[in-house]
Amino acid sequence: MTAERTWAEVSLGRLAENYRRIEAAVGADVLIAPVVKANAYGHGAVDVSRRLAEEGARYLAVNCVNEGVVLRESGISCRILVMGGVLRFERAACAEWRLTPVVHTLEELRDLDAASLNIPVHLMIDTGITRLGAQATAEEVVNALSGLKSLRVEGLMSHFASAECFDSRQTEEQIACFDAVCQALRAARCLPPVLHFSGTSGVAYGRRSSSMSLVRTGLAVYGYIPPGTGETPPLAFTVDPVLTWRARLVGLKEVPEGTCIGYGARFRAPRPMRIGIVAAGYADGVPHRLSNGGQFVAGGRLATILGAVSMDLTTIDLSEAPSLRIGDPVTLIGREGDVSMDAQKMAHAAGEISYSVLCGIGNRVKRVYLPG
Ligand SMILES: *Cc1c(COP(=O)(O)O)cnc(C)c1O
Repeated sequence: MTAERTWAEVSLGRLAENYRRIEAAVGADVLIAPVVKANAYGHGAVDVSRRLAEEGARYLAVNCVNEGVVLRESGISCRILVMGGVLRFERAACAEWRLTPVVHTLEELRDLDAASLNIPVHLMIDTGITRLGAQATAEEVVNALSGLKSLRVEGLMSHFASAECFDSRQTEEQIACFDAVCQALRAARCLPPVLHFSGTSGVAYGRRSSSMSLVRTGLAVYGYIPPGTGETPPLAFTVDPVLTWRARLVGLKEVPEGTCIGYGARFRAPRPMRIGIVAAGYADGVPHRLSNGGQFVAGGRLATILGAVSMDLTTIDLSEAPSLRIGDPVTLIGREGDVSMDAQKMAHAAGEISYSVLCGIGNRVKRVYLPG
């Protein structure tokens, strides 16, 4: 048994299996760049990246240069796409570590060309998410690309805002906008060879347009697909959660009716109760919004959170789990027999999204890697 108060078991076997299912869904002609930003969505960027590289991934995608450098320092030799762009002071590191920057304005493209940046780049087009990406007409993009002296633009990309929303036309509009830019570039014979648009939702909900040569899937490799809205088509593939999160009981109490529990006395026992104090709180990533209502799995049953989640501890109702003792683990995310909790359900209860729950699992939670 793991000698930790709280830990996350990361199944590298399941990660690999999820990767293979995405691969089967997109087909052999489409490259997969698993997204390993934010410490691989809390799963541990280095171990996850090594396993995905072993599984055949030739690209990985990160947010920033520092994340790419960490992977290089650990000996990862895949192409590494830096999606969040590269600020001026990060350029030298980007070149030194052979990272592949995503460029987000046409001015930056010209500037990198003038600076004779000796590495290929990808250009992000803003087709409607209005976040990063060049807001430019097809003609402006053609002019910028055809005017480059030495900079190699290997990829052209965009990013969906609402790929899982089937009660919106935004995705169709974004695709039409991207296609117009691609057509103009093709006509001018300067279309970059690698085209990409989709993350998890785009692939899972079949938004991938036929011309795409790469997908940037993050959440799906970790075993989740964002729930869709409207009339969603059948999923292109299924995945299983990679991470199990456990924490041990550090306290047990029998309390009489009327006992106030936790900060602000936000719970008052309506009857005599057996309560358990779990060694994980919001500093470990238990959403504070789970106070008085969220659930963990304890003793093979769902156990409700009582009162406020505190920084290091969360109190749960163990009235139905009399056999648990101090030191026994409970499951925050994962399965005990037939009963399970996952990041999506936890997020729903907290008014969050599965992404933020996974990324929020704190540094104090030791990651333990299971090869199978
Ligand atoms: C994070 C991110 C992704 C991955 O999204 P998922 O929904 O996790 O697959 C893809 N592309 C960009 C630009 C991103 O920022």
